[in-house]
Amino acid sequence: MNRVILIKYGELSTKKGNRNYFIKTLTNTVKEKLKNYDVNVYKDRANMTICFNDKDLEDIKSIINKIFGIHTYSVAYVCESEEESIKNLVLEIAREKKFKTFKVETKRSDKEFPIHSQDFNRVLGGVILKNIDNISVDVHNPDLLLKVEIRENGTYIYHDVYNGAGGYPVGTQPKGLLMLSGGIDSPVAGYLAMKRGIELDAVYFEAMPHTSLDAREKVINLCRKLSAYTDKINLHVINFTPIQESIYKNVREDYCITIMRRMMYRIMERLCGVYKAYAIINGESVGQVASQTLTSMNVINSVTNLPVIRPVACLDKLEIMDIARKIDTYDISILPFEDCCTVFVPKHPVINPKMDTAIYEENKFDYNSMIDDAINNMNTIVVTDKIDEFSDLL
Ligand code: ATP
Ligand code: MG
Repeated sequence: MNRVILIKYGELSTKKGNRNYFIKTLTNTVKEKLKNYDVNVYKDRANMTICFNDKDLEDIKSIINKIFGIHTYSVAYVCESEEESIKNLVLEIAREKKFKTFKVETKRSDKEFPIHSQDFNRVLGGVILKNIDNISVDVHNPDLLLKVEIRENGTYIYHDVYNGAGGYPVGTQPKGLLMLSGGIDSPVAGYLAMKRGIELDAVYFEAMPHTSLDAREKVINLCRKLSAYTDKINLHVINFTPIQESIYKNVREDYCITIMRRMMYRIMERLCGVYKAYAIINGESVGQVASQTLTSMNVINSVTNLPVIRPVACLDKLEIMDIARKIDTYDISILPFEDCCTVFVPKHPVINPKMDTAIYEENKFDYNSMIDDAINNMNTIVVTDKIDEFSDLL
């Protein structure tokens, strides 16, 4: 039996003005992701169809599961839109399944096809009842729901409908810069941002020798997991050691984290300019730690006018952990390597910092030239989900 993958776009097909652009971006992504397989990809306004070799089905499914913009998909059997062929194929499919109750649901977009959908449901149901013993129709809760879509170019018959990744295709929004640490929250934030169609570069602040190469490798591995949802992610590694050491030498202890984060945001804003990114994205979650109270966020955020998107801001840690497990970053995130934030934690970080005090404290050292140096000495690693392009940089 001839099979294809039938993809439904879902949310993006409701975007009237952008619809064609979204569908085109999605089609290009699917073609690019499946370029190593012998496939043909066709699109129309409501569906995308992929013709494939049977041996590749499981591989293709696991790739499709990570493409945003796909709402649901099915593996459909195909025949010509002609009554006898459809009857034969429906029966052939039903014979391969074990079920006690069933229902046939016909959708006829080919109005040339002479039988109305409702009538054809009864015709096809009759064929199955006549040829298979000990079964009955149940229109409410059938064991087997056979969907029959009659179109001009052929008829598609399927039963299992799989959930896709949802969201919008990556690239339908411009770039955002993700602050990627080795923690649980920021990879989840990156995943959720990409799900809205945002293309990502990632930025990692490291503090060698206070942090280790293992910590960097952990971030690369997290980035690699995220890159499976797009084609590649540029990971910019900032040497944060001089700035961090100056902060801890000059700034009063309880304000160190506040100032450290203001410095990170300043660097992020500069990098957004360099890489034409329109937003900073991070894994801050309201109330999780002292630097994530609303008062802290206010004082930290005030160094930039760019939008700061915090996809996990209002999620519980347990909810964030669930997503981390789903996207397979959790086990990497819990590896115990020190991050620059964990190395220099003050005993009692300020929970409600004052703007004036923050400005007074950070003006105790010449941070502007240090920010210039940090950006000039940055390393960029191209991370994909397969190739070890970065190994010589470790
Ligand atoms: P995570 O679990 O993602 O590390 P967290 O709960 O540990 O988050 P913080 O350490 O306060 O929270 O950091 C908040 C956010 O700031 C992180 O989610 C991340 O987006 C960003 N961030 C923190 N440290 C770094 C770093 N070393 N490099 C890049 N971004 C960082
Ligand atoms: Mg952290």
